[in-house]
Amino acid sequence: MKTIKESPREIPVSYESEVLVIGGGPAGFAAAVTCGRLGLKTLLVEGTGTVGGVATSGLMSHWTGNTEGPLYEELLERAKTAEKDYNYFEDKVLKAEQIIDPEKTKLIMLKMLRESDVELSLYTYAVEAIMDGKCVCGAILENKSGRSAALAKIVIDCSGDGDIAARAGAEFTLGRESDGLMQPLTLMFKVAGVKVETAVYPGEFEDNIEVSAGKLQELGKRHLGAPIGHVLLYPGSVPGVVSVNMTNSIGKDGTKSSDLTRAEIECREQIPEIISFLRKYVPGYEECYLLSTSSLIGVRETRHFKGLYTLTEEDIEQAVLFDDWVVTRAYFNFDIHGVSGPGLDPAGEQKSFTQTKKYSIPLGCFIPEKIDGLLLAGRSISGTHKAHSNFRVMPICINMGQGTGAAAAVCIREGLQPRELDPKKVQSILKEQGVCP
Ligand SMILES: Cc1cc2nc3c(=O)[nH]c(=O)nc-3n(C[C@H](O)[C@H](O)[C@H](O)COP(=O)(O)OP(=O)(O)OC[C@H]3O[C@@H](n4cnc5c(N)ncnc54)[C@H](O)[C@@H]3O)c2cc1C
Repeated sequence: MKTIKESPREIPVSYESEVLVIGGGPAGFAAAVTCGRLGLKTLLVEGTGTVGGVATSGLMSHWTGNTEGPLYEELLERAKTAEKDYNYFEDKVLKAEQIIDPEKTKLIMLKMLRESDVELSLYTYAVEAIMDGKCVCGAILENKSGRSAALAKIVIDCSGDGDIAARAGAEFTLGRESDGLMQPLTLMFKVAGVKVETAVYPGEFEDNIEVSAGKLQELGKRHLGAPIGHVLLYPGSVPGVVSVNMTNSIGKDGTKSSDLTRAEIECREQIPEIISFLRKYVPGYEECYLLSTSSLIGVRETRHFKGLYTLTEEDIEQAVLFDDWVVTRAYFNFDIHGVSGPGLDPAGEQKSFTQTKKYSIPLGCFIPEKIDGLLLAGRSISGTHKAHSNFRVMPICINMGQGTGAAAAVCIREGLQPRELDPKKVQSILKEQGVCP
C-alpha cells in the first residue's frame, strides 16, 4: 500500500480527567454515570452526535433478556415515568418498559450524564492511545476543532470494537475461534401503518408463525433473496410502528471502514424488498411503509480482547457466581445470527436455551492481559464467540459499565492499576449502589 509520512506536531491537551470513557453506548453511558456519581472527574467521548450507541442511534427495538441491575432498572423506570403514553404496546414476550423509544432514551441518558457531572465531547472520535510504556494514559481525539489529547488516570474503552485498546496493543481475536467469521451486520429500520389488531411479531428465528401462505420463516427464506430471509419484527413504542431486524450483511469486518460502507449500502438496498415481503405475506403489515432507518449500522461482533479471564459458554450455562464478580444477574440466551446466511447459526440457542439461572462476570474479563491503565466494557470484553452472543445484549452491557465504573473508582482512590485491585472493594461500592450478587 502506498504511504505518506505524517509530520510530528504539537497538539493541545484539551481535557485532563480522572476517567476517560470512550464511546457512549449502553456500556459507556453506564460507566460514565457511575464514575460521575462516585465523584470522579469524568470525560465521555462519543463519535456520533448523541449517546446510547446501538440502543438509540442504532434504532434498537428492545432491551432484551431478563437481566437485573440498578442502573438498567433506573433507566427503564425513568423512561416509563417520563411520559404517560410511553410504550403503548405490551405483548407476551416483551414487558412494555423493555421496548425502546430511541428519542426519549437519548434525552434521559443525556440528562443522567449531566446530573452526574460527566463532561461530554460529542462528535468526537478517539483515534489513538497515548501510552507510557505499557500503560494507557489517555487518547488522541479528533473532531471539528482538530486534533487534541485527553489525559486520564484510567481509560474505559466502551467503543464496541475496543478501538483504543487495539491501538494500545491489547491482544485480541476477531469473531469465532475456528475461522474468524463474525456475526452479520444489520441496519435496523421502522415501518409505520401496521394494524395493531392483526399484526404478528416473530421475535426469534424459532418463532415460525403460521400465516395464510405458510410458515413465516420458511416464506422469508423462499421469497427474500439471501443473505436476507429471516423474519424478526418487534412492537414499537408508538401504535402502528414496528421495528424490523431483517436486513443482513454477512462476511464483513466491522473494524474496517470499507466493510462498514459496503454493509450500509447493501442493507439499505434490501429495505424495499423486505417491505414488499411484509406487505404481501405478513398479517397486519398489508399497508405498512418505511418510517425511519438507523443512523448507525448495527455491528454485532468484532474484537474479543484477551483479558485476565475469558468468559466461556460453560460459565454461562452453569450460571457461575465468581468470587471476583463485578457483573451479576445477567440473563440471555445464545443469540448467534448465521455467519453465512439468514436465520440462527447452528451453534445458537434461542428457544432451546432452557437454563433459567442468572450468571456473573468476573473482574478479569474487563482487564486486558498485558496493558495497564485500561478497562474494557461492552461487547468487546474477554469472552468466547459463543459467550459473547449472550453477554453482548444491552442490559448486560449496562451492568458491565457500572461494574467497570466502580473498578475505576477503586483504582483512582488507591492509586492502583486494574490488575492490582481487590475485587471485594469494587463489590462493596456496587452493593451500596444496589447491585446484588
Ligand atoms: C442489529 C442488532 C440487533 C441487536 N438487538 C438487540 C436487542 O434487541 N436487544 C439488546 O439488548 N441488544 C441487542 N443487540 C446487541 C447490542 O445492541 C450491542 O451488543 C450493544 O449495544 C453493545 O453495547 P456497547 O456499549 O458495547 O456498544 P455500542 O452500542 O456499539 O456503542 C458504542 C459507542 O461507541 C461509539 N464509538 C465507537 N468507536 C468510537 C471511537 N473510536 N471514539 C468515540 N466513540 C466511538 C459509537 O458511536 C457508539 O455510540 C443488537 C445488536 C445489533 C447489532
